[in-house]
Amino acid sequence: ANSILAGYGTTVFEVMSQLARAHDAVNLGQGFPDDRGPEDVLRAAADAVVDGSNQYPPMTGIPELRRAVAAHGKRFYGLDVDWEREVLVTSGATEGLASCLFGLIEPGDEVILFDPLYDSYLPIVRRAGGIPKLVSLEPPAWELPMDRLKAAFSDKTKLVLLNTPMNPAAKVFTRAELQEIAALLEKYDAYAVCDEVYEHIVFDGRRHESLITLPGMRERCLKIGSAGKTFSLTGWKVGYVTAVPALLQPVMRAHQFLVFTTPPNLQRAVAQGLEKDASYFTELAGGMQAKRDRLTAGLARVGFDVLPCEGTYFVNADFRPLGFKGDDEAFCKHITAEAKVAAIPVSALYAEGTVRNYARFCFAKRDEVLDEAVDRLGRYF
Ligand code: PMP
Ligand code: GLN
Repeated sequence: ANSILAGYGTTVFEVMSQLARAHDAVNLGQGFPDDRGPEDVLRAAADAVVDGSNQYPPMTGIPELRRAVAAHGKRFYGLDVDWEREVLVTSGATEGLASCLFGLIEPGDEVILFDPLYDSYLPIVRRAGGIPKLVSLEPPAWELPMDRLKAAFSDKTKLVLLNTPMNPAAKVFTRAELQEIAALLEKYDAYAVCDEVYEHIVFDGRRHESLITLPGMRERCLKIGSAGKTFSLTGWKVGYVTAVPALLQPVMRAHQFLVFTTPPNLQRAVAQGLEKDASYFTELAGGMQAKRDRLTAGLARVGFDVLPCEGTYFVNADFRPLGFKGDDEAFCKHITAEAKVAAIPVSALYAEGTVRNYARFCFAKRDEVLDEAVDRLGRYF
């Protein structure tokens, strides 16, 4: 029995993390922080396990968390969200994305995606019967090519999948870019699934702009967030989708048969986390920015040409100045085995692109871990 899924292979994150373990390498590949996360949120989860219910919570999420997501939308984006009808709690952003795509795409619908892209997007779009239309962004500037974006739209366009801050490009879309996208969504009567898991991880005084806040976009956008990223607890897999009822209804239909729900105690703790005061969110971004600077400086000392990073957990580094002969996949495998530092080849996240000279490094690590990685690379090259 052959199936479309057979062609998918194993996700690059699992492949590189396994390789990192096999070689006892410092793993700057798969994106996850190595700190504990906020103590009060951990404590709230532990308390909720012991004192709270451990049975199926409501299919759309516990009321406390849906209220907290709505309040977060108001606080950070000025959105008026009806928590009962416009918020869905999912098993991570990954399931939120899958439910949005399975819920909204009809076979034959065209879906516009920006290349490079997070690796779960294309398999799900295809499995939902969607026809991917890729718009490629290229380093070092990762500019949005407006002519190609316009050309990607047609009468068959159902939705755009937009990731900002963007993994792996580390680009934060500007308001002007979002306005261009919004105008096209209006013109073609299309929707946007907005993957905003890194909404609180933006640097240098930038602000994350959410497409859903632009005029006319409240009715067209589904906004996805992730507690994994906002509280440095990636293993928890708690995500949330905000959208008008007409858009969220089909997403809920998909969600009910994919996972139905997600653990109640983690939901409760995340609800508490989302109510943290402004300093938590500022310090999260500030702390990550310092780590970005530390790793960027270290990689530059080793000899990499490191690209600017506006947000996310990642910097992309051109390894050609080191004199390595081979593509990014060969380079990442090589440094994992020889220098004992793992990274992700950027081409693994390109569906069509031909860029093969960048390695993506995750800087969401303790300073001593970043320093050790840089030392190892420095000794090797
Ligand atoms: N979207 C992007 C762009 C990501 O980088 C990630 C994971 N890091 C996800 C979605 C998945 O988030 P979650 O762990 O909440 O499923
Ligand atoms: N989003 C993380 C990354 O980009 C990995 C998530 C995963 O392992 N599926 O590295």
